[in-house]
Amino acid sequence: MNFPDYRGRYLPAMTPGRIRALPDKAWAPVILATGAIEQHGPHMPVAVDALMGQVWLCLALARLPAGASCYVAPPITIGKSNEHTGFPGTLMISRDTLRSQVLAVARQVHAWGFRSLAVINTHGGNVPVIVPTLREIRALYGMRAAILPSAPVPGLSAQEAAFGIHAGEVETSWMLAAAGQLVDMSRAVCEYPARLTDPGEVRPVSSPALQAWASRDVSGTGIMGDAAAATAEKGERWLELGASAYALAIAEACRTGREQPA
Ligand SMILES: [Zn+2]
Repeated sequence: MNFPDYRGRYLPAMTPGRIRALPDKAWAPVILATGAIEQHGPHMPVAVDALMGQVWLCLALARLPAGASCYVAPPITIGKSNEHTGFPGTLMISRDTLRSQVLAVARQVHAWGFRSLAVINTHGGNVPVIVPTLREIRALYGMRAAILPSAPVPGLSAQEAAFGIHAGEVETSWMLAAAGQLVDMSRAVCEYPARLTDPGEVRPVSSPALQAWASRDVSGTGIMGDAAAATAEKGERWLELGASAYALAIAEACRTGREQPA
């Protein structure tokens, strides 16, 4: 993968004059990748979520349908990762700082003339902060603002689909396909925070009552899922599906922006 092969759309690579003259700012979304630097088990680097944002951008922007357009903001690479503290390598910002950073990007790109912001988020812990922040952006600046939907991953076991939430089969397969030299499969294991057959209503995920978990409470290795089941071939297939879904979602944001200007 050539990095970054979306340079022609990367706003920090442009001069002020070029940004001023962009012809499609009224409807082309600015894509903001929000990630994390946090433990991803003993077999993967802590930058997985931040790196995956760049992988999705490279793959999705190469698949944009004709007539679609977008631009790319500098990524927010450190996220709200307080659930993963206690492992070396985890960095975190508070929910207030994450909100302020997303708002700051929106405020400035709005001042430059953009009217649509679309987030590609690769860290689940960011979602409860980003969703209300996008509504604030809509209310404050009148911009369109959305989290682009990630594609469902087919072919997982019911157990993995429910509890493979971190550094498991999916993320490890993506990484094997995108940057396999960074993955040590000899240290990839299967460890779940809970089982579908567990009794009770209070679990870390997928239950009526959710526990506010920290990864050290529910996983000795930091893995939550079956990392040992990951393969590069699965990763290739799932990257293709995910990138195509993101490309379609960007095209949809363009269409909406054209038809109903903000
Ligand atoms: Zn992750």
